[in-house]
Amino acid sequence: METKKFKTETKKLLDLMINSIYTHKEIFLRELVSNASDAIDKRHYLSLTNANLVPTTEFEITIDTNKENRTITISDNGIGMSHDDLVNSLGTIAKSGSKEFMENLKEEENKGELDIIGQFGVGFYSAYMVADKVEVRTRKAGENEGFIFTSDGTESYTIDTCEKANPGTEITLYLRPNTEDENYDTYLEFYTIKSLIKKYSDYVRYPIRMMNTKTVPSENEGEEPSEVTELETLNSMIPLWKKSKSEVTEEELNNFYKSKFGDYEDPLASIFTNVEGNITYNSICYIPKHAPYDMYSDSYERGLQLYTKGVFILDKCKELVPNYLRFVKGLVDSADLSLNISREMLQHDRQLTKIASSLEKKILNELSRILKNDREKYEEFFDTFGVNLKYGCYEDFGMRKDSLKDLLLFKSMNNDKYVTLKEYVDSMKEGQDVIYFASGKSKASIMALPQMDAVKKQGYDVLILTDDIDEFLMMVLSEYESKKFKNVNQGDLDLLNEDEKKEFEALETEKKPLVEALQEALKDKVKEVKLSKRLTDSAVCLVSGDGVSFEMERVLNEMPNANEGVKAERILEINPKHQLFEAIEHVYNNSNDDIKKYAEMLYSQALIIEGIQLEDPIAFSNLMCELMIKASK
Ligand code: ADP
Ligand code: MG
Repeated sequence: METKKFKTETKKLLDLMINSIYTHKEIFLRELVSNASDAIDKRHYLSLTNANLVPTTEFEITIDTNKENRTITISDNGIGMSHDDLVNSLGTIAKSGSKEFMENLKEEENKGELDIIGQFGVGFYSAYMVADKVEVRTRKAGENEGFIFTSDGTESYTIDTCEKANPGTEITLYLRPNTEDENYDTYLEFYTIKSLIKKYSDYVRYPIRMMNTKTVPSENEGEEPSEVTELETLNSMIPLWKKSKSEVTEEELNNFYKSKFGDYEDPLASIFTNVEGNITYNSICYIPKHAPYDMYSDSYERGLQLYTKGVFILDKCKELVPNYLRFVKGLVDSADLSLNISREMLQHDRQLTKIASSLEKKILNELSRILKNDREKYEEFFDTFGVNLKYGCYEDFGMRKDSLKDLLLFKSMNNDKYVTLKEYVDSMKEGQDVIYFASGKSKASIMALPQMDAVKKQGYDVLILTDDIDEFLMMVLSEYESKKFKNVNQGDLDLLNEDEKKEFEALETEKKPLVEALQEALKDKVKEVKLSKRLTDSAVCLVSGDGVSFEMERVLNEMPNANEGVKAERILEINPKHQLFEAIEHVYNNSNDDIKKYAEMLYSQALIIEGIQLEDPIAFSNLMCELMIKASK
């Protein structure tokens, strides 16, 4: 027998395991089962080309418990380990994953949070969370000699030769004494083990078996019930997502969704994917019918369940779905990922990134398909999650806008239902070369805006925007099929024909002194006063300059950390064709004393129409009274 000391690094890791006050100790079973499954995978693979390695019995993993000795034994007929394998695999931390994990763990520990182990596991050493001694009896397939590795996980381990009838590995855990907080005995119970296998390893490809002793009532009356012991397979082995697409029914998918993701309703859509080749993964994704109640809160965690080779790794792997698809539920199983992947590594894992982008495409394809084939369903989807797609366009500097823009729907002036941008552009009238939009609280309030007059008159359609994100979305999209987006409430609306233009310019020159007088009166409040080209029936309106719009100003100032003072440029437009304009001219020509007051009134009206609060409502009211009294005299 030889005794070897653990390397410092290994000792540190073991130390962390043993002393962790960590609550998910149960994952040790997942780790050992996954090692067993890996070992069988290896032997299975080698035996394809080497008949000597084919086992005499079926590939399987068995679990035994002994209540007297307080031991659990996990056995497999996998590849097994040689003497050197034991030293290299169990005596040393060979994997970069574990090292990275340790660093992580230390950081987490400083933050007083140890939950991270539960999500990643650290392989074999996790056994020491529940055991104070571990024995590994193993024989490598194709070799005759068996070895036993024993260690209490503190300073050193021993390796000795041993008898072992068949190749494979048998790991025995000697459970720690129960403490006030921790009842290790629970791991000796069949039902605990079974539920842990169901939870973490249900889909391992090989049967995981355990003896179960049941009490069976006797058939003859009056006789004592008898005990029956039989070998039970604990895992279901064939996960739904590993079946081929044609085998899976919609009902199966829906039932799986409801039980797995705790929804009471069927999903709106399921996306079943088997990808092989460059990357290999199976996935089932679901679009729920309703939004999770906390979807927009900070505590909401997005992500898909992650499995590797049928072994559950992580519940909410956020790297698998972009933020804007945060409502998607589902899972991914890929053989391309390492089981010991840490949270940090997930972010940089190239395979995972590839899977995520492949999945994103599948999800978007499915959405396009629904949009094309089932408009009603798509509109239902868009009502619930459309705003997420808008954020998707906007996020990350608009890098996704091209793949998302055709999935957007808008309300519009001329339609009661939604239109796509394509539909809008396709039905544009001759002579219209921009896409008009207007924003506000509701369609009704937008329709009432005086700024809509000119566009309405032309018969052009206008997109009606009511979400906070909308104008930012327009800014990011900037154009669709080379048609620019144009806010009816911003900048210059170029809707006049040549004759009208000439007429307008002449009028501008003529009325210049009046306009300048108004502008002088309002110089602290507006950037400019001008005659309006866009108004027909209304007297005044307020528009913003290019750049920040009123809607953006509102949204930005309502944000939690708004830095005060994002302000849209204010331009007061007055309608030269309106009767009121004559009245103002009259005032201006007779005594220009009152022109300041009139200017003030015009500006206040425009603010009210725009839904912007007056700075001083009392002053406005007083002024109105004054002018009314004067008019009555
Ligand atoms: P990982 O599984 O990520 O490699 P572990 O700490 O779980 O990390 O296991 C370390 C190594 O020990 C494995 O890579 C494998 O070589 C060996 N090993 C562990 N369990 C078994 C087993 N049941 N049969 C054969 N080899 C095993
Ligand atoms: Mg492992």
